Order: sequence, then structure tokens, then C-alpha cells
Amino acid sequence: MTSGAVAAARNILTRLHEVMASRSHAQAKLNTVAEVIGECLNSEVCSVYLLREGMLELFATRGLAQEAVHVTRMAVGEGLVGTIADQIETLNLAEAAAHPDFSYRPETGEDKFHSFAGVPIVRRERAVGVLCVQHVDPRRYEEVEIEALQTVAMVLSELIVNAGLIDEEGAGALDAAQTGPEQLRGLTLVKGLASGVAVFHQPRVRIEHIVAEDTEAERQRVILAFDKMREQIDRMASQAEFGVGGEQEEVLETYRMFAYDEGWTRRINEAIDSGLTAEAAIERVQQRTRMRMRQIDDPLLADRMHDLEDLANRLLRIVSGQLGTAASLGLRADAILIARNLGPAELLEYDRRRLKGVILEEGSLTSHVVIVARAMGIPVLGRVRGLRGVVREGDQLLLDADQATAMVRPSAGVVEAFEARFAKSRERQAAYAALRDVKPVSRDGQRVMVKINAGLRDDLANLSLTGADGIGLFRTEFQFLVSATLPQRERQTRLYRDVMDAAGDKPVVFRTVDIGGDKTLPYLRHDDGEGEENPAMGWRALRVALERDGLLKAQARALLEAGAGRTLHVMFPMVAEPWEFDAAKAVFDGQLAYLKQQKKLLPEAIRYGVMLEVPALAEQLDLLAPKISFLSIGTNDLTQFLFAADRSNPKLAERYDWLSPAILRFLRRVVRSLDGFNVDISVCGEMGGRQLEALALLGLGIRTMSITPASVGPVKELVGKVDLGEIGAAMEGWLTSPPADLRAAITKWAAGRGIHTD
Ligand code: PEP
Ligand code: MG
Repeated sequence: MTSGAVAAARNILTRLHEVMASRSHAQAKLNTVAEVIGECLNSEVCSVYLLREGMLELFATRGLAQEAVHVTRMAVGEGLVGTIADQIETLNLAEAAAHPDFSYRPETGEDKFHSFAGVPIVRRERAVGVLCVQHVDPRRYEEVEIEALQTVAMVLSELIVNAGLIDEEGAGALDAAQTGPEQLRGLTLVKGLASGVAVFHQPRVRIEHIVAEDTEAERQRVILAFDKMREQIDRMASQAEFGVGGEQEEVLETYRMFAYDEGWTRRINEAIDSGLTAEAAIERVQQRTRMRMRQIDDPLLADRMHDLEDLANRLLRIVSGQLGTAASLGLRADAILIARNLGPAELLEYDRRRLKGVILEEGSLTSHVVIVARAMGIPVLGRVRGLRGVVREGDQLLLDADQATAMVRPSAGVVEAFEARFAKSRERQAAYAALRDVKPVSRDGQRVMVKINAGLRDDLANLSLTGADGIGLFRTEFQFLVSATLPQRERQTRLYRDVMDAAGDKPVVFRTVDIGGDKTLPYLRHDDGEGEENPAMGWRALRVALERDGLLKAQARALLEAGAGRTLHVMFPMVAEPWEFDAAKAVFDGQLAYLKQQKKLLPEAIRYGVMLEVPALAEQLDLLAPKISFLSIGTNDLTQFLFAADRSNPKLAERYDWLSPAILRFLRRVVRSLDGFNVDISVCGEMGGRQLEALALLGLGIRTMSITPASVGPVKELVGKVDLGEIGAAMEGWLTSPPADLRAAITKWAAGRGIHTD
């Protein structure tokens, strides 16, 4: 803002403050407002239009015919005033009648006024009115005047709501007219359909007070907030929120640039000088930037704009103390969560009954937040560019993750078509549910084991719902993720016992904690407190467990106690070398000896196994095999390490294919190297939950898969249609001399046999 604008706005604000504090009637106040603004800006006309019953009505004017007050009404989008409200933009015209949207209203007597400038009065991102000035002389208004008008419009929005001059519902009604339906496109991360209202994970801050009581105090608040925000950004690299975002470097760099940008701080301070509160000043500067950016059509700049929006919102949250996420506020209706990205623990904070879907700007297929959502049966659409610019809090959303789209503010026809699709999809689900008691047996009569992955108490119901053959991967760290503090041993024992009770005679494979990577715990940090450059390859899983062996000892005891009198299956994650297995097993042996000595009831049998996630282990399987009972291939981590491609990096989300010769040949080698050993082999990564990928795994000789519950029906159905001998031979051929597009070849093979994969 220029100093002239600051002074002009300050002058008006001081006088408006007096008007607002006066005890006069709302209409009288508004009349005075029009007078004051007109006078201060030296304007011949100053008019205030407000939204009433969906129309913009002239509520007060200085300079136009008073008979027109409450008579002149315009639809949103009609005339200059309607256009300003519709587009939420400023108009500055030397010759109003020359504008294509100009609509002449004789009752106002405005024909003698040539120039026109108008700004929207915005409330919660919706235009609730328009403030405009007019002059006889044909001239464009100076920047100073426009900026003063915009600042005053902000103050007016507070006045008119406080005075009850518009109702908030009126604003809502305008909304539908303002922005029609829009379609979002992204990448399917978890299939499914859902409808609900948009809820921002980081809610936008509601600005309660616009005019400052004490400008110096507001300045101090902003200084403190900036300090805090800069501190946060400097720390952010180690936080889950950014730990999972692959574009992290770039985003952080931009954040840093903005956070330390003197121009930004200066503009906010000037807005405070003009009489606004800290919150209003931040928002005012943001509004101005938004308007400028709207005129620039550059996708790169648009991305940066989102970063600045993020940051401004962060600053607003700090300054206003409104720090919680939408989870802490609670979901009040069926909701679709909107976020740039999320951590798994953040997702788990939401009420599962109300949370129907998630739409992310980033996200990738095997990031843990997506795995958790999949396990919860919540559809997720990711990689939606500009998401938070299009969707607004409270918008109705139809999420069709099957088609990788979402409809924002859908029309009635679209809702109807969606409902029909939804019903069909439920029918399909019901058909899969009917397979519950069907054992997966291939066409050539071989039994395949289809188990589920789980991690939370709530997941147990899925075992009977799907009729799965057991739990092939119980991610014990989920209990740690949903807990604010380290779960005590007794709590762990209780959970493990309940899981085994629920599973009855079906086996449950407990994987010891896999913390780290994108599963960070606030209460468990590395000793040096530093964030890691590459957390997925860093201090995680068994590496943490062996170093903090108190953690593993407690878990071992909890598992051994819970497994008393039954067969216990224990699996260690991220084993890279056989000695790590030995060391982990030694911890269990130590606890077992203790329990024996205490004459406690012990498990009837303990079967130990490892996950194959680190390629190095494949080179030493012959050394490890005699010591283990089973091996489960974790294709999520394995793929990221084989391809050196971060599983959480959205930029790489579509780059490497599970159906590539590199992975399939690698898996074939692993399967072969266990030939002759008494080791059960299975796959527990997300790969096994997709029909075509599951088909490939069957072709490689994998006969046990542990998958996300929603995939059990589709995979059982697939197994029933496949001749395992035939797919085995075909796979051998493909891997000996791979076709250019292996995915296409497998798809064609399947279609030729009437197997239509999703
Ligand atoms: C895997 O890496 O494939 C796996 C199943 O473990 P997680 O996804 O929990 O890392
Ligand atoms: Mg893993």
C-alpha cells in the first residue's frame, strides 16, 4: 500500500470506528458510512449494495437518488455491481457505460456520472455486497483510492454482519450462483465412491475483528507470529506433514522465501497502520495478492500462489491462536477431507463414521496415509492440482475415485447420475461380499490363501466380513501412531490378545513396530533430534527396535504373553542382513526365558519370519532361510528401494510399474532361492491387492497374499478364474524375453481368457 492509501484508509477507518460504536440504527449507520467514505475519498457518489434474498440491493448512497435506495436491485452477474460480486473482483472504469456489462438504472439518476470504481464486500470468501464510487469526470481511479476502498470494504463486511444487515444464509445463496459445478481430476489412490461436504484439514481462520483497538499491539502480534512461523518452517523438514511430501525441498524453499520476504511483512504492517487488526491485515494483503495473481495466467506462478496461501493461512492460525486441525473441531456431517498432504496419524484422528473420502493435492499409492485410508475403506483421490483454489469449505462434493474424478458443487442431474453409479458400486461390493464363504481355489484346483492386512482394533471386523484366511500382516505400529504417548506393555498385550481372539483359529502375523519413514511419532525421536534427509532409508523399523531395545523387549513380552497357549507368528520388518534377524530373535528368546523362569504359560509354538523389503536380503536368503518359518515380501518398500524411487514422492507416483520385468524377475529370483527350504512365502505389499498384479504374482508361484480388506473379494474372484499352471508358463515366457509393455501383455492375456481386471 502506498503511504497515501494508508493515510486515506486510516482516516476513513477512524471515522467508521466511531460510526460503528455509535448507538444509531443499522440503516442510519450505513447512510453515514456512505457519507464518510464519499467525503474522505472526495467522491461524488458512494453507494453500498448488499445481498438480500439472492439479489444485490442498493442499501445506502451518497450522490445517487435516495428514492432508489431499497428499490434498485440487481442479480448476481448482472450489471457492473453484479459482475463485481460474481467475479469477486475490482472494477476501475473511466467510462462505465462503455463496459459490456453496464446496465443503466434510470431510477438512480446515475447518467451524469461517467467514471466508476467498485470493490466486492467479502465475507468468508463470498461476496456479500459491493461498495462503489462514481464521478462525473471520466477518469480512472488511482491505486491509492482503490486500495482505500478495498480496506474499507473489509471493515464494512464486519459492520453489516454485526448489524444483521445481511444474513449469512444470504451469502450462502449467492455462493451457488457465483460458482457453478466443477470437475477435479487426479490420480486414484484408493478406489471407491463417496459424497459429503468439503472439510479442510487445516481450516481457514475465521476473522472475528477487523478494526484494531490498539495498532501498536497489533504490530507486536504480527512480529511474534512471524517469528513463530519462521521457527516452524525451519523445523518443518523433520515434521510428518512435510516428511511425506516429495516436493518437499521446493516447497520449503518457497516457504522460506516468503516467510523472510520483507515486502510481505511491510505490506501487512501498512495494513495494520491503516487501522486493521493483525488478522484482517494479513487477509487484506492476501486478497490483494489473489486479485493480482488472477490476472496472470502462469501455472508455475499459480503453484507458488498456493504456497503463499498456505503460509498466509499458517500465519493467520498462529496470530489468531486457531491452531487445531479439522479433526480437533470434529466432523459434523459426512465429510470429504481436503488437504495438501497428510500423515497417517493425522488421518486416524478423524471420526471414521463421518469421514467418507479424502482428496489430496499430493499423495502416492504406497504412502502410509494411503495405506491407512485403504484399510479404513476410505476412497482417496490424489495429485489434484489447484485443489484448494477450486474447492471451498462446505462445498458439496461427489468423489468418484474409481474414475479418478471428483465433482465440486454438482448439479442435480450429476447427483442423480452419481447416485446411480454409487448404487451399482454397492451392488458390486455386495457381490464380492457373497464370496465371503467361498474358498479361493484356482481353475486347476489349487488352493490360494488370501489374507488381510490390518493394524487397528476396528480392522478385526474385516476378517469375518471378507472371510479371509487370516491376517498376514498386522502393523503393530498403528497402535503407536494413534496414541498420544508410547503405549504401555499391558495395552499392547490387550490388543494382541483381542486380535488373536477375534481371529480364532486363523493365523495372525504380528509385525514388530515399523516406526520411522513416513510414520513418525512425536514422542519418539532420534537422539540427536535432527530430521533425516531420507527417512525411508533412515532410522526406522528394526533399526530403531534394535537400538531402542527397551521398545522391542516390551513388545516381545506383550506378544509372548498374548500368545500364551497358541501359535504365535512374529515378523521383523526391514531386515537387510541375517544378523539383524538373529539380534531381534535374541530379544524374544530373552523374554521367553524370563517368562519360563516365572512359570508363565508360553505360546505353544512360535513361528518367526521376516519381511523382504530391502533388496540386499535377497542376496543372503540361503543363509537366512534355515532360521525362519516364513518370508513375506513387502513390495511397497521393496519397489522404492529397487527403483531408488521414494514411495511417498507424488512426482514418482506413476513412474515405475509393478508389472515391470525388473520387479517380476526380482520376485522370481526370491521365490526360486527359497526352493528346497521349508519357508512359506507370501506377499503383503499393496501390489497383491490389485487384480492384474495379483495375477502376475500367481504366475510367479506366490500362493499366499495378504492384502487390503477391500481387495479380498476381487482377488478371490480372480483366483477362481485362473489356471495357475497356464499363468505360470505364460509368466516364464514373458520374463525370459519381456515384451515392450508387459502390463499390456498381461492385460491382453487375461482378457483373452475372459478375465476382466479392474
Ligand atoms: C511393504 O513395505 O510392502 C509393507 C507391507 O510394509 P509397509 O507398507 O507397512 O511399509
Ligand atoms: Mg514396509
